[in-house]
Formats: sequence, C-alpha cells, structure tokens
Amino acid sequence: PSITRGVTVEIPKVSWEDIGGLKNLKVLAFKTFCCISRLGVSPVCGILLHGPPGCSKTTLAKAAAHATQASFFSLSGAELYSMYVGEGEALLHNTFRRARLAAPSIIFFDEADVVAAKRGGKSSSNIAVGERLLSTLLTEMDGLEQAKGILVLAATNRPHAIDAALMRPGRFDLVLYVPPPDLEARYEILSVHTLNMKVSNDVDLKQIAEDTELFTGAELEGLCREAGIVALREDISTSVVCNRHFLTVWKSLKPALTREEVN
Ligand code: ATP
Repeated sequence: PSITRGVTVEIPKVSWEDIGGLKNLKVLAFKTFCCISRLGVSPVCGILLHGPPGCSKTTLAKAAAHATQASFFSLSGAELYSMYVGEGEALLHNTFRRARLAAPSIIFFDEADVVAAKRGGKSSSNIAVGERLLSTLLTEMDGLEQAKGILVLAATNRPHAIDAALMRPGRFDLVLYVPPPDLEARYEILSVHTLNMKVSNDVDLKQIAEDTELFTGAELEGLCREAGIVALREDISTSVVCNRHFLTVWKSLKPALTREEVN
C-alpha cells in the first residue's frame, strides 16, 4: 500500500473467505460493489457501518474492495481531526479527487464520528475544526452524484453522534449494523484464524466457540495467535498447537463487550 500522511491507498488482499459470519452483510456488500465495478455506477453514495470495535467493519470494506478490484482509500477521522488548520480539509478534498481518477474506488472513513459529529455537540473540544471538516465532507459527498464508481464507507462505534446532514439521501443512504459474532460466526472466525496453523486433534473449535460468548472477531483472532505463542514458549520445536494452549490463553482473557452492550 502507498501511505501519504493520513491516507492509505491499496487494493486489499482480504477476501470474503477471510471473514467469518456476517453472511447477509457479505451478500449485500457484494451486490453493491458488483454494481460499481460492472456498471461503473453505485446504487448508493455512502454506507455507514456501525457496531462495536473489532467486529470487522474495516475488514468488510477491504474485502469489498478486493472482490471488485477497487482502489481502496483509507482515512481516519481522528487523524484528520489532529491535523493543522486546513490540512485535514485539503486531504479530504484530495482523497476524493484521487478516488475519482482511480475509479472504481472505495473511500473508507474510519472513526467517522470524530469528523462527522453533530454540529453544536459538546463532545468535540475544537468545534471549528470539526465543522470545517464536516462541511468539506458534505460538499465532497454531494459532488459524488456525478462521479461514477465511487463509494464512501464510513465506520463508527457511535452512530447516534453522526450529524443528521450526512444521513440525507445521496449521502449515507444505507446504515448497516455489523454485530458481534454469534455462535456460528465465532466458529467460522476461529476456523479462519486457525486455517494456516497446525492444530492438534484435541482442539474442538465448536467448544471454543461456545466458550467465547461476547468475544469480538479481533479477540478471537488474538486468542488463536496467542495460543500459537504459548505453544512455542512451551516447546520451541513444537509443530502443533493443542487444546491446553488455547485453554491457557482463554483463561487469561475477558471480553471487552458486556451483555448490556450486545442486547
Ligand atoms: P474498529 O471499530 O476498532 O476499527 P473494526 O470493526 O473495523 O474495528 P476490524 O479492524 O475489521 O474491526 O477487525 C479487527 C481484526 O479482527 C481484523 O484484523 C480481523 O482479522 C479480525 N476479525 C474481526 N471480525 C472478523 C471476522 N468476522 N472474521 C475474521 N476475522 C475477523
């Protein structure tokens, strides 16, 4: 990927098979992006993905770009916000311009609420910076109607903080909830992250999925990675990861999500 300060451009390598669960979302995203690459037009201008951290909002956006070989521009709201006066707006403007030139393109906007927070809200410490960035974003999104093959995907953990102006038709037309994984999805995520690992026959991924309620995809990925490290620490020459290694890590982990947040 090429990285200029604040923006990354690449065609991601993540594919749909790398994402466990989320079948309906994958189908929907696939249909949307196929329209972009096949017809050069997007049925929607923007999609807002919301849900708890670590549940594959970013991964979903990357897989969509991979499936359609779209250029993937990644921006972080927090980074834009921290830039010098005018620099964030210039970067936003420039990114949309480059995305138009490189179409089909997906602009992924992480931590969107930092930039797109409700005007007049108390949450931002520097309201003027937020408002200037938001108004640039609104202008750019309105310009998209003529631009073919560009889709803006924004991600947030706080959808209620997003300014209503962004939710008008022609801007973020679609709001999708990316939920934490259920039992079946947890099993699939564990399968994805152990695919290139040698796991012993005593490892029962179905049982681990049962025992990891409230774990996010990122936490399940961490569990698999750490189990591999524990196995290596036990015996540097080992070639398999056993159930006891998963168990050691599992005992030390506590999911960040609570039942109240999920229900
Ligand atoms: P944040 O809100 O913190 O930006 P996010 O929702 O965008 O989080 P990702 O960055 O997509 O989450 O996920 C973090 C990591 O967790 C990814 O690298 C991915 O490997 C893993 N992961 C999360 N969900 C899944 C999933 N459904 N299948 C496979 N891996 C997953």
